[in-house]
Amino acid sequence: MLRLPCPYCGERDEPEFRFAGEPAVRPGSDVGDAVWAAYLYMRSNEKGPHREVWSHAGGCGQFFLLERDTVSHAVLRALRPGEAS
Ligand SMILES: [Zn+2]
Repeated sequence: MLRLPCPYCGERDEPEFRFAGEPAVRPGSDVGDAVWAAYLYMRSNEKGPHREVWSHAGGCGQFFLLERDTVSHAVLRALRPGEAS
C-alpha cells in the first residue's frame, strides 16, 4: 500500500488522502471562456517528478503540496502551503 507523508500528522496510508489536483492560479473575472476552461479542465499530466495538491481528508483535513515521481511513485517531499518554493 502506498503511504503518503502528511506534513501535519506524519506518514499515513493512502486511503486517508484525497487528490485535489495540480496547483493552479485562479484566473481573474475579466478573462474569457477559453481561459476558464483551461483552468478547470486542462492538466499537464506530467511524467516524472510532479507537484500535486492533496488533502488529508481522513485525518487532519489539511491541504498540502506533495512532490512525487509519477513513474516510480516515489514521494520526494510534502510541503505545507506556505513552505512552497
Ligand atoms: Zn494530516
